Amino acid sequence: MKFETIALHGGQTVDDTKSRGVPLYRTSAYLFDSAQHAQDLFDLKVPGNIYTRLGNPTQDVLEQRLAQLEGGKAALALASGTNAIFYTMINICDGGDEIVASSGLYGGTYTMFDAILPQFGITTRFADVNNPDSFREKINDKTRALYIESVGNPALDVADIEAFAAIAEEFKLPLVVDATFTTPYLLRPLERGAHIVVHSLTKWIGGHGTALGGVVVDGGTFDWTQEKFSLYNKPDKGYHNMRFGHDLGDMNPLAFIVRMRTVPLRNLGGCISPDNCWMFLQGLETLSLRMERHSENALSVAKYLQGHDRVEWVRYPGLEGDSQYEKAVRYLPEGAGGMVVFGIKGGREAGRRFIEALSLFSHVANVGDAKSLAIHPASTTHSQLSAEALATGGIGEELVRLSIGIENIEDILEDLSRALSAS
Ligand SMILES: *Cc1c(COP(=O)(O)O)cnc(C)c1O
Repeated sequence: MKFETIALHGGQTVDDTKSRGVPLYRTSAYLFDSAQHAQDLFDLKVPGNIYTRLGNPTQDVLEQRLAQLEGGKAALALASGTNAIFYTMINICDGGDEIVASSGLYGGTYTMFDAILPQFGITTRFADVNNPDSFREKINDKTRALYIESVGNPALDVADIEAFAAIAEEFKLPLVVDATFTTPYLLRPLERGAHIVVHSLTKWIGGHGTALGGVVVDGGTFDWTQEKFSLYNKPDKGYHNMRFGHDLGDMNPLAFIVRMRTVPLRNLGGCISPDNCWMFLQGLETLSLRMERHSENALSVAKYLQGHDRVEWVRYPGLEGDSQYEKAVRYLPEGAGGMVVFGIKGGREAGRRFIEALSLFSHVANVGDAKSLAIHPASTTHSQLSAEALATGGIGEELVRLSIGIENIEDILEDLSRALSAS
């Protein structure tokens, strides 16, 4: 099946109730058939439901659908995008291991890598996403993963995923891509050589700003039996001394997601609610249509801003002449997504006046809603970052971040025009 069809049908097997919609299973636990069945479930000898922290039938449809849409082998949905990133990194790295990551990351991810993971003995060396060779220089014998965003937040740099995949291949490392800003409709990183894809479902996949969630999709192509990946090669004392890289039988190729479900999720508990899974399934049904309109509207906004005398500069990867345009042509042929950033003349104060004067656009912290949104990152989402980290992440005081919605483009441009005059 093609993308638009999978988005509507993937992962659902119509059950005895003949429900056309995916049923929402609001339950915490599931009956065991017998004492033996219970034991087999706990020993991972048979598949099945035990407890909703570990999985739920509504969640299962969402996971299968997302794995199919990405061209992956398995997926795990979690409480938030942040949670998906955290479990991914602690499912790869042991204490003492290192990550090489882009310096231009989502603010919360940057803080996780820079300030939280070190508590677990996992350290990150940051490099320049626009220069893949700068990653090569930061790799050493402790490196266990390369981490990038398909389109970075908020600078909107497009990652040359194939160049990163070549480096990952050379050093036998997994390439992890946060593809929240592109969604599987615009870009499928696994097809370009990435090994693991993470998303915040909260944004365009949900699309309505009504639920939080995240997902990790495994391409099933990475060799975790290499000795340096200790979590897959040493007996796991939390799980009957199982060696996750070796002892799963038929499921060995899915070791990454099996371990994430049975170790971090089972014991740290960042599960997604069945209700939110159900809402993300509704969002997925129209993802292709929404991403087309988001991209079309965002390109119109970028062109409008480019010609405006209150605007210092505009960044939209799909805008001809943009520094990211060539990469956008290669990686985002279906559209460059819904995000536009620009520098407003008059810096911080003009930025504040602009935000205050918007009326159709909502001033909020998230992105990827069907409605148009705006924020000034330097004073909000990225305010935890030092001036130096802001500069290396490409975030100036004058930068305004727009998440362009699917309203009528004339109403969007009229609101921007009024606010720019007021700035
Ligand atoms: C929002 C976002 C996250 C975090 O996701 P939550 O669902 O808010 O936890 C991670 N990465 C990117 C690129 C995001 O936009």
